Amino acid sequence: MPLRPELRGQAPYGAPQLDVAVRLNTNENPYPPSAKVVADIAAAVSAAAAGLNRYPDRECAELRAALAGYLVGEAGVRLGPEQLWPANGSNEVMQQLLQAFGGPGRTALSFAPTYAMYPEYARNTSTEWATGRRAADFGLDLDSAIGMISKLQPSVVLLASPNNPTGTALPQEQLRAVLDTAPGVVIVDEAYAEFRRAGVPSAMSLLADYPQLIVTRTMSKAFALAGGRLGYLAASSEVVDAVRIVRLPYHLSAVSQATALAALANSDELLGRVSELRAERDATVSWLRGLGLRAADSDANFVLFGAFADRHAVWQGLLDRGVLIRKTGPDGWLRVSIGAAEEMRAFRGALSELAAMGQLSGDPAARQVTGSTGTGSTEEDRA
Ligand code: PMP
Repeated sequence: MPLRPELRGQAPYGAPQLDVAVRLNTNENPYPPSAKVVADIAAAVSAAAAGLNRYPDRECAELRAALAGYLVGEAGVRLGPEQLWPANGSNEVMQQLLQAFGGPGRTALSFAPTYAMYPEYARNTSTEWATGRRAADFGLDLDSAIGMISKLQPSVVLLASPNNPTGTALPQEQLRAVLDTAPGVVIVDEAYAEFRRAGVPSAMSLLADYPQLIVTRTMSKAFALAGGRLGYLAASSEVVDAVRIVRLPYHLSAVSQATALAALANSDELLGRVSELRAERDATVSWLRGLGLRAADSDANFVLFGAFADRHAVWQGLLDRGVLIRKTGPDGWLRVSIGAAEEMRAFRGALSELAAMGQLSGDPAARQVTGSTGTGSTEEDRA
């Protein structure tokens, strides 16, 4: 096969989709839509189906207006539809951003451990990829980050806040320092923003001050719409116009637009379990610490915990007990998504059993932020 050399030997991205009773490995909202929301989405899709002989609205005008309305309440910002851009998941949004602002001879920079798809967007768009390291508490090491930005002059800086897989939010003063130094665009990936703790601001509030700031969001997590594939960005209209140049025509189907609109009309209900998931997350952090483990503070719907001498054995031990979590992050650490109360009970029960068997031994060497992300992660590590 005449494959591009940089794609040879590479595996497709994705977490294992195993048929396990308790799936806590891809940070989904565990609660399916109610019968009322299902009926609303079905009615909207049915209406869209009557016009499927035509291409959809290429500019997604109605959806962009609805997203602007949602952000007034959630993030306290008033944005025009020309400042919003939706696509098939925030994955597609970010790949479009790299198509527009990365490319040959340009560099994208992020700070590990972070979301394992970032280097793949860079690879796919022939953008040079660079990673710095986060501090031992998984926050940004600001001096080192500013130093790397000054030296590398990246066209794109990618920062997840809250960060995956650590759950760490980016303080606003640090983001301002990055924005004041970065020569190109700064993407803040807020896939998990709705789970942030009280008092933690969204980067959206800095949009008015920084035309090169781009905030991405998704309906896959808090909104419980992972199957709908709807992500979006908020930025200056100049950024949106740049993305409109590289997007494929009619990239977002009429069915997707109708689904997202119906979901947004039901946002109160779809987001109704977020506070419960937040409380369950905080309780999980405390419980793990009570077990003598380390657990990172989290503003997301997952918790990174460890550090184990043999994390694979712990991951496998949980899987053997019907609980699938994620082997990702620095060596020795594991990530558990926050599920429904009974799923978390199953997780705690399984981990307690492993603890009673003496299988949670720690690895002092793994207590540093040593690893991960970037390139070269295994299939299990990614997603
Ligand atoms: N950003 C982060 C940090 C994520 O963890 C994920 C999903 N795992 C995404 C973006 C992509 O989500 P989606 O494409 O479903 O919007």
